[in-house]
Amino acid sequence: MAAEESAAATRMGEQSDPELIRLVNAGAGNLRSLAAGELFRRHHRAALTYARTCCRTSGQAEDLASEAFLRTIQAVRGGAGPRIAWRPYLLTVIRNTAADWSRRDQRSTLLPDFTAWIERNAGGVDPQAHIEAADERELLVRSFKALPERWQTVLWHTVVEEEPAAEVGRLLGLTPSGVASLAARAREGLREAYLQAHAAAAQTPECQYFSALLAAAVRRSGKRQNADLTNHLRACGRCARTYRELQSINISLRALAPIGLLQWAAHRYVESQTSHVGMVQAASVLPTLLQDWPLTNSRRRLFKRMAFATVAAALLAAAVLAILTVRHW
Ligand SMILES: [Zn+2]
Repeated sequence: MAAEESAAATRMGEQSDPELIRLVNAGAGNLRSLAAGELFRRHHRAALTYARTCCRTSGQAEDLASEAFLRTIQAVRGGAGPRIAWRPYLLTVIRNTAADWSRRDQRSTLLPDFTAWIERNAGGVDPQAHIEAADERELLVRSFKALPERWQTVLWHTVVEEEPAAEVGRLLGLTPSGVASLAARAREGLREAYLQAHAAAAQTPECQYFSALLAAAVRRSGKRQNADLTNHLRACGRCARTYRELQSINISLRALAPIGLLQWAAHRYVESQTSHVGMVQAASVLPTLLQDWPLTNSRRRLFKRMAFATVAAALLAAAVLAILTVRHW
């Protein structure tokens, strides 16, 4: 690699995800490839973790993660795809790609419980709608999905995946304290949106009236509450549930956002993400391999083998570190 390109690759490591996405979409030729390589490096371990919940072997999970990565890059290059929330979008593409595989000749590479899940949800039944209808807490998921992408992203990384502020700051191009204040605003925005959704869906004027008091009640938590509201919460299960969820919005969000966005194996993904984190880094050689984007088939095979070897070594390192470190995030 020429010294100039090497310097550009180093600078990529300092860019935020939205900036890298912008470069993939509209950057000059080589910058596009370098930006794609950096996005790959940052999110590949998470992608593999999720792909592994669909596939029988780690090699197949590697193929699935690679195909989803290429699809996401193509979406961005075509002017679609995420602008900020790279990781949640990529994970969703992994699930959709696996669903496509299940309808094609790659079906045998998928785990039986994943194909069974796809079959259960085939025929026009929207698994999302099914989950949401099954629980009134759909409101929280819907409110989350209606937030600005930047808020969704910061909540996804800080609350759902519990990444440290410094790490999230690197992805979003913010200082750790910037992440903390963005996350606080996003949580407040979520509370607000959730309360509005709750009030809009209220069945009675009484519930509507008390919805307006719930936010204040949450802020006064532990102090004396409005007696009428207390009586209503005793009598009305729906408002009481909303009140509880507002009190522990982080816990509710962590439990529900993955189901809302990923649908398949959401909790397994989140648990494995937070059990050995921040320790796996794909090698810096990957951006070099991505230079001549789009990849030719032989390059793609080479790229996959390299990526797999890198990740295998990284996973081994992670396994050792996981023994030494109970929890990092
Ligand atoms: Zn009520």
